[in-house]
Amino acid sequence: MSTKLVIKDIVASDRNEQTGLYQYIATLSNSAKCRLFFSKNPDWKLIGVNRLLNIPCPICRKDYYCNCMSNHTAELERQVLENNLI
Ligand SMILES: [Zn+2]
Repeated sequence: MSTKLVIKDIVASDRNEQTGLYQYIATLSNSAKCRLFFSKNPDWKLIGVNRLLNIPCPICRKDYYCNCMSNHTAELERQVLENNLI
C-alpha cells in the first residue's frame, strides 16, 4: 500500500519570533490534520510533525497516536517549501 501525503491547506497557528519557532496546522488531501513545527534560522526547517486525532491515521489506521507522520517529515517539508505554503 502506498500512501501519498498531500498537503491541501495550511494555516498559521502559533509563532515565536524570538526563538524562530513557528507552528502551522496542515490539512492533507485525505482530511487528516497535523501540526507542523518549523524553525527559521534563517532557512525554514520542519523539525516536528504531530498528527491531530480528527481521523484515524491515513497510514497505519490507528485511532490513537503513532509516529507515521514523523517518517514523512522530509516529504512534508518539501511540499511546504516548494509550494511556498508558509
Ligand atoms: Zn500511523
